[in-house]
Amino acid sequence: MTRSAIALLIACLSAVLAASPLSGAPRPWSLVRGQSVIVVGQQSSKTLREVAVEIEQFKAAIGESIRGAGEPLTLPTVVYTFDDRKAMEPFVPLYRGKPAALGGFCRCGSPEGSFIAVSLSTYSDSSAIVFHEYTHLLVRQVTQNLPVWLNEGLAEFYSTFHLRNGAREAEVGVPIPEHVALLRRRYVPIAELIAVDQSSALYNESDRRSIFYAEAWALTHYLLMERPGGVAAVNTYVRAVAKGSNAIQAFADAFGATPTAMDEALQQYVRRPAFRSAIHTLAERIAVGEPEQAHVIPDAQAEAMLGTIQLHVGRMDEATSRIEAAAAAGPGLAQTQLALGLLRLEQSHPAQALPPLEAAARLAPDDFVAQYTFALTMLQQEGDHAPTSDDQRERAHAALTRAIAINPRSADALAWQAYADLLLNTRIPEARAAMVRAVELAPERPEYRLRLAEVYVRQGDHAHASTILASLAEHADAHVSQAARTLLTQVRAADRRREANAAAAVAAAYAVNSPRPAAGEREAGATESGAEALAPRAYVPLRPVRRGEERAYGELTQVDCSSAGVRLFLKVGTRTISTTAKLLADVIVTSFVDDNPSPLSCGTRVTPESVYMTWRTTTGARTGSAPIVGKAVAVEFVPKNAVPRRD
Ligand SMILES: [Zn+2]
Repeated sequence: MTRSAIALLIACLSAVLAASPLSGAPRPWSLVRGQSVIVVGQQSSKTLREVAVEIEQFKAAIGESIRGAGEPLTLPTVVYTFDDRKAMEPFVPLYRGKPAALGGFCRCGSPEGSFIAVSLSTYSDSSAIVFHEYTHLLVRQVTQNLPVWLNEGLAEFYSTFHLRNGAREAEVGVPIPEHVALLRRRYVPIAELIAVDQSSALYNESDRRSIFYAEAWALTHYLLMERPGGVAAVNTYVRAVAKGSNAIQAFADAFGATPTAMDEALQQYVRRPAFRSAIHTLAERIAVGEPEQAHVIPDAQAEAMLGTIQLHVGRMDEATSRIEAAAAAGPGLAQTQLALGLLRLEQSHPAQALPPLEAAARLAPDDFVAQYTFALTMLQQEGDHAPTSDDQRERAHAALTRAIAINPRSADALAWQAYADLLLNTRIPEARAAMVRAVELAPERPEYRLRLAEVYVRQGDHAHASTILASLAEHADAHVSQAARTLLTQVRAADRRREANAAAAVAAAYAVNSPRPAAGEREAGATESGAEALAPRAYVPLRPVRRGEERAYGELTQVDCSSAGVRLFLKVGTRTISTTAKLLADVIVTSFVDDNPSPLSCGTRVTPESVYMTWRTTTGARTGSAPIVGKAVAVEFVPKNAVPRRD
């Protein structure tokens, strides 16, 4: 909303308040829906719509600079508008037992969704806090590993957002005088600034007047507004850091200068008499309902929603009485049941939360929030409490299916649906399609790629799974990299077992078609490792045995190389046979062992490997301790614990 619109609004409000009799009925609450916001207030439909348009446009403006930040959020952000601070007081967080002196705040990024509360009379002052926090929320969608300086720098940069020129343009990056004034007195080297993390003394989220905030803002402003190609470079930097690159190196790579080299330019920058700001020309159509689409909501619904704010700011006693009264007054309203369910969750009574949440989902089949909240609560019980039954999982799955029908672009809902499928071990192709889509929608979210890999593993598609897991194993987020490594180890172990089984299958085929070893002999490497080894699931494509050739399975013990030629020794059971070749290069070598791709060399094998050796039979003496059976044709290395079946 423009400052002039605010002024006009206040004038109108004063007129309305002056005209209304003090004993009159309370003003009803109305609601207007945008694409990603819901605005609730007692003001005119036109005012509520203006607020909705402004928040939607804010999102669009950020999305133009930070790739992905304008993407739809899973849950709509609910904005509550109050006439003034007094009206808002019952709903702000308490500070030392008293309502904090706030003109507006954002509870951004909680799993139940985000909400913003603002006092319209002080809007121009308090909107900076709201937009600062809302920026964090939107940027978090792109990456959760943003360096602290850039996270706060962007939040400060966008905190000055306002609409102008009849709401057709938005201005961001307006200079913040306190920051400029402070920076002209103090300066921290950029290398120090970008090394700051959550635990650094320089950083304290409650002190936005500190040198850290001032300089984070200035550096962001300088990069976005002053350096050529700055926006693209910031995106490059964000992505490099998200992938786990070293922050200093990523900085130098993205911005073409080391932090030290940039210090002087930044110091000069903050001494300038004037700063540029950025104007975004906004799209003609912003998906917000027209004022006439705002509708008055029942009192019980408004009370339930207001109680939910109190719940989220920790005013539990007030929240409890307000929500319970609302649920009693309007038991058939989805919103009162939803609020009651959230209250019970907050009170740590998840079992009592489910009935009202399920009622909300039933009462509002077309409401994403109701479906999604019910499904998540059901599925998240898994692990916290007794495991859910298949019936409960199916009900959660059904709610998610409705949620996805309402919002097909919700990566979170898709990911939860896949999770339900994995738990139920059913509809795995659906889970695969859901996760492929979720990754498309939110390519920067590593947890989606991890789940997609899980689905691939479940399908036995280890090749796709390994590719994803190998890249996630290096991810900056320690939880992600650890989970990826664990799963990758399991996949590789399974692959090795599978190769061994395949070798066993080939050996079995060979055993049927070849002369059996002498009675009492065991083939080399043979072990009895049970059913799994006897149930081969894959085929290792060994070279076919041609006419005039023979093949045996055993341990390659020695390769003698001399000017006279090459002699290869194979231990088969208790005896050793040998083959000859003119040159080692004449022997076809294949390896099915992944850590030993080219294994044939001259000498004694310190650890004899399991191989299939193929030779062309020659006539001649077959006597001695290692009779020559023919000319070596091929040596195929196979995994160690191959289990040739004996018949
Ligand atoms: Zn912040």
